[in-house]
Amino acid sequence: MRTQVGIVGAGPAGLLLSHLLDLQGIESVVLESRSRSYVEARVRAGVLEHGTVELLRETGLGDRLVREGLRHEGVELRFDGRGHRIDFAELTGGRSITVYGQQEVVKDLVAARVAAGGAVLFEVSEVAVHDLDGDRPSISYVDAAGNAQTLECDVIAGCDGFHGICRPSVPAGALSMLERVYPFAWLGILAETPPSSHELIYTNSDRGFALHSMRSPQVTRNYLQVPPDTRLDDWPDDRIWTELQTRMELADGGFTLAAGPLIEKSVTAMRSFVVEPMQYGRLFLAGDSAHIVPPTGAKGLNLAVADVRALSRALGTFYSTGSTEGLDAYSETCLRRVWRVQHFSGWMTSMLHRFPDDDRFSGGIQRSQLRYTVSSRAAATTLAENYVGLPFD
Ligand SMILES: Cc1cc2nc3c(=O)[nH]c(=O)nc-3n(C[C@H](O)[C@H](O)[C@H](O)COP(=O)(O)OP(=O)(O)OC[C@H]3O[C@@H](n4cnc5c(N)ncnc54)[C@H](O)[C@@H]3O)c2cc1C
Repeated sequence: MRTQVGIVGAGPAGLLLSHLLDLQGIESVVLESRSRSYVEARVRAGVLEHGTVELLRETGLGDRLVREGLRHEGVELRFDGRGHRIDFAELTGGRSITVYGQQEVVKDLVAARVAAGGAVLFEVSEVAVHDLDGDRPSISYVDAAGNAQTLECDVIAGCDGFHGICRPSVPAGALSMLERVYPFAWLGILAETPPSSHELIYTNSDRGFALHSMRSPQVTRNYLQVPPDTRLDDWPDDRIWTELQTRMELADGGFTLAAGPLIEKSVTAMRSFVVEPMQYGRLFLAGDSAHIVPPTGAKGLNLAVADVRALSRALGTFYSTGSTEGLDAYSETCLRRVWRVQHFSGWMTSMLHRFPDDDRFSGGIQRSQLRYTVSSRAAATTLAENYVGLPFD
């Protein structure tokens, strides 16, 4: 089999890249190890930046997103038993975020690729990439029926997430891996109960961080900071609801978190990771295969979108003019945004979590940062403009 762009991974990065290439008349084949139903049900991110929403709408993926997505113009920071609203719309000239589950984005993308006759091959195995430093790279795999196949292409997009095979296939020493692991994790729950606030609440409490979020008017998504070695068995549902309520308590007693049946419960490690450069020969890494951010800034999915937007444009130039200028600049273009987002996500994380070695000095600095962020227009604008997303390059 032969195509122009071979894409490994049908997460948001791989599927959106395939869609954006198709709009420019560029062929691609997406190879995915999981089944369609699995990728469409995988619960992960849910906050879309302003620019992500605009891009999805402009490229024909906005119907359900506009109908069902929840547009938010602000967020609450809660500490010392008081809530403080950061007004995104007012601070950023009308920009906002939209709450719409990643699995819904993936469903819309798969539907669009299928409707356009795109090749998305699910349940493939033994995927391996070859000849990355030549101009005829290829991907070998075993298809869902058990037949060994080879896909020849001009370019390979490694969109196979943090644990994928593309990044590790690059010869040792060609890429730098830069990493910071945090001394805590997030215990996340999805519950069948209406949200208790119409905007997200980020809480810094003496017992650790808590986040109240949502996926729809009927489904709540909440997170608790927990130790990295946390076992879910130690957290029965009642304990989770009680701990969330305790951390999010207001001094005047004016907040009650509505509890309900859990649909999903998981523990996610927190790390910051960047690979430099995001390219080796004809292999281009995009999304989580190239970088991971702690979820506090709600950026992982949005960064994947920014990467494939840049890659699709560079490939558009390559196929229309033969120039590799855009492809040569791909890594540098993406890494500028990646490092901005790494800083923002790390900053939000350090401002809102309890660190095991916290002393009164670092606690004082953290409180001061929080008070400054909610009382200074300049500081609040920094949070707001990064949260809604800086303009694409
Ligand atoms: C558990 C979890 C919770 C998260 N929660 C949040 C959150 O609350 N907020 C937030 O902003 N971000 C969150 N993120 C981050 C966000 O979901 C990711 O940044 C986003 O999924 C990146 O998209 P991607 O397409 O790059 O990677 P992925 O979504 O990981 O997609 C990669 C795809 O490649 C496939 N694949 C892997 N290996 C192979 C192979 N060898 N062959 C073929 N296919 C392969 C995988 O099955 C997958 O479908 C979370 C991530 C995880 C893992």
